[in-house]
Amino acid sequence: MATQDDRPGAMPATDWPQRLRGAWRVLTGEGNSDLSSSGAAPAPARISAHPQAPLIESLIAGLPSPAIVLDREGRIIAFNAAATTIAPAMRPGEPALIALRMPELVDAIRRAGKRREPQRVEFFERVPVDRWFEAFVTPVRLAGGEAHSDILVLTFNDLTPLRRVEEMRADFVANASHELRTPLAALSGFIETLQGPARNDPAAREKFLGIMQAQATRMARLIDDLLSLSRIELNAHLQPNTPVDLAPIVRQVVDGLQTLARDRDVDIKVAMPQGSASTLGDRDELIRALENLVENALKYGAAGKRVDITLTRGQTRAGAPEARIAVRDFGPGIAPEHLPRLTERFYRVDVADSRAQGGTGLGLALVKHVLNRHGGRLTIDSTPGQGATFTMHLPLRTGQPVAQEELSAKSNT
Ligand code: ADP
Repeated sequence: MATQDDRPGAMPATDWPQRLRGAWRVLTGEGNSDLSSSGAAPAPARISAHPQAPLIESLIAGLPSPAIVLDREGRIIAFNAAATTIAPAMRPGEPALIALRMPELVDAIRRAGKRREPQRVEFFERVPVDRWFEAFVTPVRLAGGEAHSDILVLTFNDLTPLRRVEEMRADFVANASHELRTPLAALSGFIETLQGPARNDPAAREKFLGIMQAQATRMARLIDDLLSLSRIELNAHLQPNTPVDLAPIVRQVVDGLQTLARDRDVDIKVAMPQGSASTLGDRDELIRALENLVENALKYGAAGKRVDITLTRGQTRAGAPEARIAVRDFGPGIAPEHLPRLTERFYRVDVADSRAQGGTGLGLALVKHVLNRHGGRLTIDSTPGQGATFTMHLPLRTGQPVAQEELSAKSNT
C-alpha cells in the first residue's frame, strides 16, 4: 500500500495526492477512493517515511497472500490488502510490535532484525474465528546501500484448511481404530473363554463361534467400507465417463436384497420411467451406493413393512436434466437435528442400533462420495414417525428427454 512521509516538506507537494490516495486505501480498505475528486482528504494518523514505500507497495499489492514490509526500526512501510485480514487496524508508520500483537510473530521479527536471518513461525488466531498461520520474516537489503536499505518482508500462509484436514484425518484414524478394536476385543475375549472355562462345553463353543463369526464379518465389512471410501476419494477428481443405464442397476440391487427384505418382512415396490434414464458413471459404485440406501431402509425402516424405490427424471434448480433414484421407507424416520450430520463418517443416530444391524457408520459417507464424484448429490427428507426418503440425484446423460415421465408402477416383491 502506498505510504507517506510524515515530515511536511520532505517531498514536493505535488506528490501528495497520489500518496494520500494510497494511504487512504490502506486505512479504509476502499479500492477506488479518489481524494482529489471528493476533496475529503483524511489525515492519516501515522505515515511511513521510507523513501521506497511506493515501490514496495506496488510490489506487494499484487501478491495474493498477506505481506507486510517493515523498515529497520520495525515500523510498517507498507502492507497489501490481504494483510488486513491478519491485522485489521494496522497503519503505515506504526511500529509492527504494536500493530502485530501475536507474541510468536513479534519474537520472530525481533530475531530476524537482530540476526539478519530469515525466520519462520506458526501462530494461532482465535478472533474472529480460529485460524492458523505460518509467517516468514525475511530480512532484505535493498540495492543502494543507504541507511534505509534494510527492510523486513513478512509473508503469511493460511494453514487453516490444512490443519482442518489434519484434524479430520486424526479423528478418522481414531474412529476407525475404535470401530475395529471393539469386535477385536470381543474376539479375543471369546478365544480366551474357549481356551479356558468353556474348553469342554460343546454348547457354549457352538454359541461363541457364532458370535465370533458375526464379529469377524463386521470387521471385514468395516475394512471393506474403509477401502471403498479411500478408493472413491482417490478418484474424486476423475468424473466417470461410461454411459450407465440406471433401470438395470435398480433391478439388480432390488434382486440382491430380496432375501434381506423377506427376513425383515418388508415389501419392496419399484416404479421406473418407461424410457431409459442413464448417466455417465461407474456402474459398481452406483450399485454400491444404492445398495447402501436400500439396505438402510430395510434395516432401520423395517417397521413400516414397505420400501418404495422410484426412478424419475427431473431438473436441477439450475435447469440441468437429472435422474433421481428415491428410496422411501415408512419406518420411524430421523429427527431433523441428525439430518445434516448423517453423511459424516461414523455418525449414527443410535450407535447400538447400527452395530446390532451390522452397520459400520460409513454407508452414507460412501453414498455421498460416490454421488459427488458423479457430479450428483444426495438429499434426505424425513418426518419422524413417517419414514425417510433418501434420493440420489445424478446428471442425466445429455440427449435424453427432460420432462417428467409417466411412471409405470410395478410391484417387485
Ligand atoms: P450404518 O452402517 O450405521 O447403517 P450409515 O452411514 O449407512 O451407517 O447410516 C448412518 C446412520 O443413519 C445409521 O446408523 C442410522 O442411524 C441412520 N439411518 C440411515 N438410514 C436410515 C433410515 N432409512 N431410517 C432411519 N435411520 C437411518
